Amino acid sequence: MMRTPIIAGNWKMHKTASESVEFVRELAPRLSAYLGRIECVVCPTFVALGATALTLQGSGVKVGAQNTHWEEKGAFTSQIAPNMLAGLADYVIIGHSECRQYLGETDEMINKKAHALVKHALKPIIAVGESLAIRQAGDAMSFVGAQVVAALKDIPAEAMMSVVIAYEPIWAIGTGMNATSADAAQICTGIRGTVRGIYGDTVADAVRIQYGGSVKPDNMVEYMSQSDIDGALVGGAALKVDDFTKLIELAAEAKGL
Ligand code: 13P
Repeated sequence: MMRTPIIAGNWKMHKTASESVEFVRELAPRLSAYLGRIECVVCPTFVALGATALTLQGSGVKVGAQNTHWEEKGAFTSQIAPNMLAGLADYVIIGHSECRQYLGETDEMINKKAHALVKHALKPIIAVGESLAIRQAGDAMSFVGAQVVAALKDIPAEAMMSVVIAYEPIWAIGTGMNATSADAAQICTGIRGTVRGIYGDTVADAVRIQYGGSVKPDNMVEYMSQSDIDGALVGGAALKVDDFTKLIELAAEAKGL
């Protein structure tokens, strides 16, 4: 089963709207040679989303949002509805550990967000991952598997073709302490197995699974050489045009594309 690799840059709370526009103006032409083979996504902050999407129109580089609310409107001060993202973003990250940890997002909320995105034809990038304590207790896979099951509750099989799952061990995010490619691959294979258990072979073989956590040009090939790792969700190394371009180039090389 050939899965198109997907490399997404999660800019987190970095770059103003004008910095975002300047960045993608420089980035897009450098990625153009890879775009038929690798899907490239940038995820700016909400305030930069419109300007970034406009700048990237027709470029082939996709845009992602960093979160969504599950309701379409209402008295939810500070929140953004999925229907407001439609037309601006292709992808939306949900379940990022920073949102689980600092904003109190629960598995149930993440599942509601997944349903809301699917309803508006937006593609969820569902982030999952264990803490260091859970890993050290030997419970990483059961924890991550449960997060996947909870996030996908009642999501129909047809919708799964547009779902991406990002395995991001919390202890590897922004710490420089990346998971070994074998550890990352083991969990990504486990996630595919979890998806297989719910949806069967066709969906499991098609769903794309990313690794995230201190991904950099010097470890990219190792991750991308793992057959169950279909891409990366990148923080720090996605903030520089040279590094992000290099990651795409290395993904193409590692996947033989
Ligand atoms: P870093 O690549 O900076 O470790 O961040 C990973 C991440 O959280 C991407 O969503």
